[in-house]
Amino acid sequence: MKEKIDVLVIGAGPAGSIAASIIHKAGFTVRVVEREKFPRFVIGESLLPRCMEVLDDAGLLEAVKAKNFQQKFGAKFLKEENVSDFNFSDQFSKGWNWTWQVQRAEFDLTLATEVQRKGVQVDFETTVTAIEFFEDESSVTTVQRLDGSTEEIAARFIIDASGYGRVIPRLFNLDKPSNLDPRKAVFAHVHDVHRDNFDEPNRIIAIMYAPGFWTWIIPFSNGVTSLGFVGGFDYFNNIPGDLSAQYKACIEGHPYLKKRFGDVKWVWDEPRKLEAWSATTDKFYGKGFVLTGNVTEFLDPIFSSGVMFATVSSHLASKQVVRKLKGESVDWDKDYTKVVQQGVDVFRTYVMAWYDGTLEKVFFSKNPDPLIKSQICSVLAGYVWDQTNPYVSDHSNSLKRLVKLIDVNERMARN
Ligand code: FAD
Repeated sequence: MKEKIDVLVIGAGPAGSIAASIIHKAGFTVRVVEREKFPRFVIGESLLPRCMEVLDDAGLLEAVKAKNFQQKFGAKFLKEENVSDFNFSDQFSKGWNWTWQVQRAEFDLTLATEVQRKGVQVDFETTVTAIEFFEDESSVTTVQRLDGSTEEIAARFIIDASGYGRVIPRLFNLDKPSNLDPRKAVFAHVHDVHRDNFDEPNRIIAIMYAPGFWTWIIPFSNGVTSLGFVGGFDYFNNIPGDLSAQYKACIEGHPYLKKRFGDVKWVWDEPRKLEAWSATTDKFYGKGFVLTGNVTEFLDPIFSSGVMFATVSSHLASKQVVRKLKGESVDWDKDYTKVVQQGVDVFRTYVMAWYDGTLEKVFFSKNPDPLIKSQICSVLAGYVWDQTNPYVSDHSNSLKRLVKLIDVNERMARN
C-alpha cells in the first residue's frame, strides 16, 4: 500500500470534481477514482444559476465558460395555450441570474480535466469494490481496474460522490426508500432543425402534457436538443410498442411537439430510459466519510435541481472536511446535513406541488403578483437557502396560501 492520502473522492461527476478541487485548493492530498471512461453519458443537462458561484469558488468556472455551452436565462412552462415564463433576471434573491444547458459528457469531462490540470490524480475505469473503516476514521478502499488488477488506497477521509452508484450507502446498508412515487423517463438527443420557428433556445421548456406526465426540452448550443418524457409507469405501459415507438407516439401525440420534432432525426439510434431514480439515505455522513451529490438524495428531474444540489452539497461538505483535516471540530448534523436537507425540503414541496396540480394554478394564474413571481423564480433558480424569501422559509404554507388566494380571486372574477 502506498502512502496514506488525505482524501479519497469516489466519482468524477460534478460533485466529485467540486470536492477534489476544494480539497486540493486547501493544500491537502486528494485522489479521485471513477468507474467509467470519460467522456461518458449521464442525464442532467439543465443547470441552475445557484451552482455558478460554487463552480467559481472551486476554480472551475472559467474552464466551463470556454466551452461555449448554451446559456440558460430562465424556465418556461407550457400547458395547452397557457404559458408561464420565468426569467432569472427577475429573481428575488441576489446572485447569478443565468447558467448553462450542457451535454453532460462534455461538461463532466471539462470539470474532471480541469481538476487534473490543477494537479489532482484522477483514475478512470477504476471501480470501488470494498471499503474498511478504522477507529481513527481512516480507511482502506479496494479499487479494481478494467484488467482485473486491484489496489488498496489508504485515506484519512472519504467523500462519496458516486451518484447513482451510491457506493457507501450500498456497501453499508444505508439506503432508505424515497417518499416520492416511482417514475420513469424516456429521452433522446434530437436534431432541432425547426428551432428558429419556435421558442428561444435560452430556456428549458417543461410541457404539462397530461396529468402526471410531462416533457422537457433542453436546447444545446450545437443545434441538438434533449427531449425527454417523464411520468408514472402506467402512462408508459399504456403506449404500445418498444421504446422508440413509445417515444415517437409521445411526440406525435402533442401538437407543439409534433410540429417541432415530428420529422426530425434523432442523434441516437434509440431513445434511452431511466426508472425509479428517487433515493435517499439514513445519514449523510459517518465516521470517516461524507456523502455528497446524488448519493445524499435525489428527488425528481422537474426543476433541474440535481446538479445544483450535487455541486452545492459537495462544496459545503468539502469545506467541512478541510476544517476537520485542520483539526477543527465539525458538527456534521448542523453544519452539513441540516443545511442540505433544508434545500431538499424546499424542492420536495415544489416537486409534490407539480405532480398534484397545485403549481399549475400558480404558474398559469391570471395577473400574477410580480413580487410573488420573483420569489418563486428564485426557487426555480436554486436559491433555496434564502430565508428572506417566504417561498423558501415557509415554502409549504406560502404555496398553500397562494393557491387559496388564486381560487378566491378566480371565483370573484367569475361571479
Ligand atoms: P453523477 O453525475 O452520477 O456522477 C457520479 C460518478 O460516480 C459517475 O461518473 C459514476 O461512474 C461514478 N461511480 C459510480 N459508482 C462508482 C464506483 N463504484 N467506483 C467509482 N466510481 C463510481 N439534474 C439537473 O441538474 N438538471 C437536469 O435537467 C436533470 N435532469 C434529469 C433527468 C432525469 C430523468 C434524471 C433521473 C435525473 C436528472 N437530473 C438532472 C439529475 C442529475 O442526473 C444528477 O443529479 C447529477 O448527475 C448528480 O451529479 P453527481 O456528481 O452527484 O453524480
